[in-house]
Amino acid sequence: MIDLPALGIVRDYVGQQYLLVGVHQYMRADESDALILTWLAACATCGAAFTFKGPGRTIKFQPSRRCQKHKRPGQRVGKLITRPFADLVREAL
Ligand SMILES: [Zn+2]
Repeated sequence: MIDLPALGIVRDYVGQQYLLVGVHQYMRADESDALILTWLAACATCGAAFTFKGPGRTIKFQPSRRCQKHKRPGQRVGKLITRPFADLVREAL
């Protein structure tokens, strides 16, 4: 068994805040445990709520920084739009 991260944890990535809203545990084909975490954040471009799914076991946290509409992988984020999580949760969930 592995320790599950608690919902509501906040991670920071270069000033952008990510709220943990989903923890999904599953078993791989080799029967080892794996985790998928779902993070909620505000799009760096438009501020819209979006979710990002990532592995729970990696050391590096490299989240998406923008919503589906503004996806620009690898492109730098200029001025960040920040919004309170309460607003994002209301919008997304
Ligand atoms: Zn956007």
